[in-house]
Formats: sequence, C-alpha cells, structure tokens
Amino acid sequence: LHDRDGWIWHDGEWIPWRDAQVHVLTHTLHYGMGCFEGVRAYAGAAAANLFRVAEHTRRLADSAHALDIDLPFSEHDLIEAQRQCLVKNSLSNAYLKPTIFLGAEGLGLRAKGLTTHVMIAAWDLGDYISAEARAIGLRALTSSWARHHVNISLCRAKTNGHYVNSMLALNTAVKAGFDEAIMLDPEGYVAEASAANVFLIRDGVLHTPEVTSCLQGITRDSVIALARDVLGVEVRERRITRDELYTADEAFVTGTAAEILPLRELDGRHIGARAGAPAPGQPISSTSVTAQLQQLYHRVTRGDLDGELERYRAWLTPSTG
Ligand code: PMP
Repeated sequence: LHDRDGWIWHDGEWIPWRDAQVHVLTHTLHYGMGCFEGVRAYAGAAAANLFRVAEHTRRLADSAHALDIDLPFSEHDLIEAQRQCLVKNSLSNAYLKPTIFLGAEGLGLRAKGLTTHVMIAAWDLGDYISAEARAIGLRALTSSWARHHVNISLCRAKTNGHYVNSMLALNTAVKAGFDEAIMLDPEGYVAEASAANVFLIRDGVLHTPEVTSCLQGITRDSVIALARDVLGVEVRERRITRDELYTADEAFVTGTAAEILPLRELDGRHIGARAGAPAPGQPISSTSVTAQLQQLYHRVTRGDLDGELERYRAWLTPSTG
C-alpha cells in the first residue's frame, strides 16, 4: 500500500504518497492514543460523492475531543480536504482514512508538548464486495474476546488502540475457518462484529444493540432510517442475547466498507432456518428485508435517488462544485 503514486494530505499539505512518513517514535504508534475514520466515496452521475462525510467528520472530531486531543483543523477544513483528496488522486469509488495522531516530541504516558497531526489517505476500492458475496454473506463465530466496556474505554470514539480487541476476535474466528466474529459485551449481550454493527429481524421487526459497547455506526444509522422511513419497518434498539441471533429470521452486519452483509450462520446455527431462509452458502432471497435494505442502501450511496429516496440527497457531498 505504501509504494505507489498518489497524494496524501498531511497537516494541510499535499505530500507525494511515498514520502508520507512519520518518525518511529511517533507517540500513537506506541500507545494507540489516536483516532480515525473510514469514509467512502461512490461514483455519481456528475462527480464522485462522499457518503455522509459530515457525520464521519463529526465523529472524528468527537473522538478527538473525547480523547482530549485538540484538533488543529475545523470540520469544514477536513471535509474540504477529503473532497480534494478525491480530485487530487482522480478517485471516484474510494475509501478514505482520515487519521489523527500524536507526534514524536516525547515518549511515555506523561509526555508533554506532543503535537497533533492529521492525515487523509484515499485509495480506489472499486466494487469492494462482489454481488455474489453480498448475497451469500457471512459465517461467524461468537468470540471468546469481550468487546469494550463504557468504563474501560471510550466506546463512541473510533480510537486506534481499540482495534487490538477487534483483531484478536477477528483473527481467532478466521483461523477457525469463519468469516467474522460476533463480539459480546462484558455482560454477555451482543455488541457488534469485529468492525461492523449487527442487526436481526424477527417477525418483521428490526432489532439492534443499543450504543453502549458498540460503535455508533453511520451505516447503522442509515439502515435504521431506511428501514423506518422507506420500508416502514419497526426498529428497536435494545439489549440482545446471542440466542436471539441464533433464532432470528434474518441477521446482517453493517459498516462503511462492508455496507450490509447477511449473517447466515452463527456458531454452527443456520440463521433463519425456521423461516425458510436458504442454507448458508446459498444466496439470500431477494424478497428478504436484508436484500431490500441492501438495494436501498446501494441506490442511496450511488446517488440513484428517484422518488422516495430524494430526501437522502444531503447524505451525498460531491467532490467537485
Ligand atoms: N463497529 C466498529 C468497531 C467499526 O470499526 C465500524 C467501522 N467504522 C463499525 C462498527 C461500523 O461503523 P460505520 O458504519 O460508521 O462504518
């Protein structure tokens, strides 16, 4: 990833991709005290559109504030930099990673006078998940690694150091032959996947864990809006137990990169078997709530906003104009 052409925005300057380096004593590298975002852009009719960039940038600023890191740029400046990042790198279907980290002026937990740095890198994502993979979805394992607790870390902040926990869970699941990990909170209730929120559908109602141990996902928020306002589906945010996932009619995970992916099997249980869902490994039914949400999300992100979807135009920010 590091050895390629392109431009990276670093502290307000455009740096050639290969020259965007930091010192080995960079504080965030040692302790994980920093925060980042994952933002997506999609090719639209006229220009590339950033999807919900204002919400992502606000979450980034909130993460920094919660970590007590002073952000040297306004949200407006950061949104402009993300737009320019697409233009400067000739990108349309892209993934952007704005990151805030502390400098190398000192080491140790008590280090003083650390500078705050901001960088934005963006790269082409193409069609990250194929249509086939989107229909087949995931086989997952409930992780033995608990997710964060509100009194242990800042669950709403997208903090670099949090992802050690995500990777422990994901790597264990992948090594055991699964696609994803489902993580429980320290009390044993369903929190989220390693880097995605989780939903279930039972008897036509959509349920998702309340935002305590899980990240307040922006895709999660988009899916709740589409389900309630376009499909007219009732949505409940509450505590969920793992057996509710086993016995759900449908389940799926959501995230900026993954979008909406069906959860087809958990701990060897075929989710939706009783409701007649196709077996894991077979595509989901196009009439399922999951497939309908996938279609709506696909249309909204790609700027296909005819009719009832017109109200979501504010979710798209063109890279130019
Ligand atoms: N949970 C975690 C831990 C994540 O890293 C992500 C990805 N940012 C999500 C949930 C989904 O959030 P979003 O929809 O905002 O990408």
